[in-house]
Amino acid sequence: MKQVMRQGLDLLFPPACPLCSSSFSSGWQEPFCRACLAGFKPLPPAHCPRCALPFASGRSAHLCGHCSRKAPPFDRVYTAGLYQETLRRAIHAFKYNQAVSLDRPLGKMLNRALPEPMAVDLILPVPIHSLRLRQRSYNQALLLARELGRCRRVPVNHQLLLRTRPAAPQQGLSARQREQNLRGVFAVSENLSGKRLLLVDDVMTTGATARECAKLLRKAGAERVEVAVVARAPAER
Ligand SMILES: [Zn+2]
Ligand SMILES: [Zn+2]
Repeated sequence: MKQVMRQGLDLLFPPACPLCSSSFSSGWQEPFCRACLAGFKPLPPAHCPRCALPFASGRSAHLCGHCSRKAPPFDRVYTAGLYQETLRRAIHAFKYNQAVSLDRPLGKMLNRALPEPMAVDLILPVPIHSLRLRQRSYNQALLLARELGRCRRVPVNHQLLLRTRPAAPQQGLSARQREQNLRGVFAVSENLSGKRLLLVDDVMTTGATARECAKLLRKAGAERVEVAVVARAPAER
């Protein structure tokens, strides 16, 4: 019955690509159309196995300079692809143009990048400050976390990792300045002893935010902290 209704609805409103609005051909099951998917750039084989930093050259995975100097507080980072071209456009629309309905397709792409099965007790979005929340009306990381929670049947908690004050914009700051800028910005409200966590965000640039959050989650007792980001930006100059 559900199937029949669904087919009826599909005839009335043919499902379209959430990014470019072109109609899906019948039976198309992917979250985006073929042309948009072709514009998604996967993480190259040459990347850091801890923080997923892509390297411009080489073919094999190896630790990046940052992770080999100092092991990051998270275990590893999973990503649906590079923060370039179509994925970059999709995230911009999702974050700044109120394209809230991109949560499911982007969440699905991210879910595919995670191992199957995955031992996770709790999914946590990177929080945004309430001032930002008021401007944007939604936390994009929470919407993605909810989609992953649905796909994985894992609870999502958005009140455990908190943002206590807004950070100054990170753009234009060096890696060290970004880290200083984030100090004291987050707080953890509960003991997390023995918990295996998945921290979710839309984009990872330098990784400063994920490192700061993971550090606090570890301090609160988390046994494992893995990170899932829709897109990974290449290293900054
Ligand atoms: Zn499309
Ligand atoms: Zn690394």
